[in-house]
Amino acid sequence: MNNIITAKFGGTSLASASQIRKAAEIIKANPSRKYLVASAPGKRFSDDIKITDLLYTCYAQCKTGDDKNFSATLEKISDRYAEIIKELEIDFDLEAETKTLEKNLLASKTPDYAASRGEYINSKIIAKFLAWDFVDAAEIIFFKDNGTLNESKTFKTAGEKLKNLSHAVVPGFYGSLPDGSIKTFSRGGSDVTGSIVARSVEADLYENWTDVSGMLSADPRIVKDPEVINYITYTELRELSYMGASVLHEDAVFPVRKAGIPINIRNTNRPEDKGTLISASRPADAPHKAVTGIAGRKGFSSIRVEKSMMNSETGFGAKLLYIFSRNGIPFEHCPTGIDTISVFVSSSLFDEKREIILREIKNELAPDFITIEKNLAAVAVVGEGMVSANGMAARVFSALAKAGINIRMIDQGSDELNIIVGINESDYENSIRALYNEMILK
Ligand code: ASP
Repeated sequence: MNNIITAKFGGTSLASASQIRKAAEIIKANPSRKYLVASAPGKRFSDDIKITDLLYTCYAQCKTGDDKNFSATLEKISDRYAEIIKELEIDFDLEAETKTLEKNLLASKTPDYAASRGEYINSKIIAKFLAWDFVDAAEIIFFKDNGTLNESKTFKTAGEKLKNLSHAVVPGFYGSLPDGSIKTFSRGGSDVTGSIVARSVEADLYENWTDVSGMLSADPRIVKDPEVINYITYTELRELSYMGASVLHEDAVFPVRKAGIPINIRNTNRPEDKGTLISASRPADAPHKAVTGIAGRKGFSSIRVEKSMMNSETGFGAKLLYIFSRNGIPFEHCPTGIDTISVFVSSSLFDEKREIILREIKNELAPDFITIEKNLAAVAVVGEGMVSANGMAARVFSALAKAGINIRMIDQGSDELNIIVGINESDYENSIRALYNEMILK
């Protein structure tokens, strides 16, 4: 144990002075919380505008010479910070920050530079409030010219710099390119910064403070008050996120996962809740649960190709999948029969290339029939505990049968981590509810 926790706070957790005070209380409650990664101020209420969005708008107005709106947006941004500074009762030279921002925007700095100032200024304010050091992410997070993270340089530099300080605030969302210019991660990227900082300082834990009490075992827009997932493995998280459940930026898992650092999703507004612990394996004392969560996505099509004696034709499947891959369409599932093979793909990608693909299948594979079905959805039941539990598939299928749902496709990954069913889009919500009731509640 190094007694080091990296705590990342998201936009809603730092959207106002009162939220920043809550974050500060959380930080002070555990002396191991030595590094804080901050997002830009997010929404305070549902139709509020995130500072990051205002900054992108401001950049665009500057670029198009829309001077009046440019000044108004800049003022809005500065006013949000002014209110925070006033309510935190700190001494902060906001005017200097705003002037630098304006000057750099007028000097044609990039949109990434503009967007990054949200976390940059917020982190400086928070550092002042906590009386901690501020470390600019541009000095410790490095991208290569091709835009990917320079991991070795980043982990080494960030580790050396931060471990020398007893406490520090680091702005999320950005780093620098080899020429020194600013580059951001994709939206929501402060999660990635938090993970990189945790890895660099060899933290015992990466806490990700947000506005929900953890990841939910099903979509709350479909299932009423779904259970919070207390423990989830990195692999299960990956499966559920891929199927549409979102709680963290996709790339946030990789830096900490490699180092075996667990992630704890916590709620800034309910710090008493334990949240979700994401780690390599379930802790030994965690209650056994076969199924961790249920998620799904709409918008699939199935292309079913039939040819008698297909199974004796070597390379038929490979040729079929190659047609999809060379047209830039990844396949999601590929169930096969003796003389049939279906390819499950995203409808929006397929629709663009439909004619070309059908022509190529006909010309190159001479099938007897091609059948296309649209408006399909996939629902996944995910849980590492399913490997050692009997009758899981039977329960999935009978729950769907009882709900009157016709299963169009079945896929069980060879690691038995998930069972995925293809259904009609119109059955999507009912399927999630039926599976939640059977597989999570029982
Ligand atoms: N502020 C950035 C965004 O709104 C990054 C983040 O908050 O993670 O996407």
